[in-house]
Amino acid sequence: MNEKLAKIREEAIAQILAADAPEKLNEVRVKYLGKKGELTAVLKGMKDVSAEDRPKVGQLVNETRAAIEEILESTKTKMERALREEQLKAEVIDVTLPAKKEERGHRHPNTIALEEVERIFIGMGYEVIEGPEVEYDLYNFEKLNIPADHPAKDEQDTFYINKEIVLRTQTSPVQARIMEEGKLPIRMIAPGRVFRSDEVDATHSPSFHQIEGLVIDKHISFADLKGTLEVFAKELFGEETKTKFRPHHFPFTEPSAEMDVSCFKCGGKGCRFCKGSGWIEILGCGMVHPHVLEMCGIDPEEYTGFAFGVGLERIALLKYEIDDMRLLYENDVRFLKQF
Ligand SMILES: [Zn+2]
Repeated sequence: MNEKLAKIREEAIAQILAADAPEKLNEVRVKYLGKKGELTAVLKGMKDVSAEDRPKVGQLVNETRAAIEEILESTKTKMERALREEQLKAEVIDVTLPAKKEERGHRHPNTIALEEVERIFIGMGYEVIEGPEVEYDLYNFEKLNIPADHPAKDEQDTFYINKEIVLRTQTSPVQARIMEEGKLPIRMIAPGRVFRSDEVDATHSPSFHQIEGLVIDKHISFADLKGTLEVFAKELFGEETKTKFRPHHFPFTEPSAEMDVSCFKCGGKGCRFCKGSGWIEILGCGMVHPHVLEMCGIDPEEYTGFAFGVGLERIALLKYEIDDMRLLYENDVRFLKQF
């Protein structure tokens, strides 16, 4: 029995010393001290030991058990300490390394341009109003004097959801909605996303942004329109900027005009930027058509007004001298970082 216990002790210690991980130690504990372990088996065999030898053998078993446990414990402690030290070494902070640069996002050129336009009009007492991007045909076309058979309706290449519902092709329906509410006078701009089934190229996109403006009050004349848009152009492109109005046609305004601004690059002498003309086309505008006022419940005998629409991308492209509209939508950080 003595020899057997000595052998168990020797084997157990050898395995403990050979263990290279806490799990291995646990395996040794189970193998020798566990319920089905070798030492327990010896205790179970005590019934074969003579009565007078039992206490002595029992003591020997306990001593062996204590010895194995002790060495198990001390080895475990040593192992854990070593592991912790290794971990600390691995986690050491090198204070001489350069710090990680904090990457901050910033506003998109479209947003910068929009905020600039909003600032100018809010300064003139305008409200900023938004409307739905999915719109009734009624508001997108009919109430703006574009009846079902009007050629402008084909021209616009609209995304139809069904016969009555479209993705708005312009932000003008917001004007019709506000006029219908009947709270006069009106002084508003309506910025927002619009949709047309255009192919993507340097100057077209199926989705872009417009800013629509509307003023309705008593005694509003074309002079008010010209004065307002002149202030807008000067604020946006500089005090030296001149404006020029060319007659045009829009179904919802009469008379209608397109406004050009003098080239802010060459001051009007003519350059590559303005294609030699000295002028840059910037927006469409006009006096609200009496029929539109009527359809929206406003008496055209009492009230008059003007409206204008400008492409947000057009402003961003001009302001930052970007020659391809696609750059605004690709969200390439290397491009966007420049603004
Ligand atoms: Zn020019």
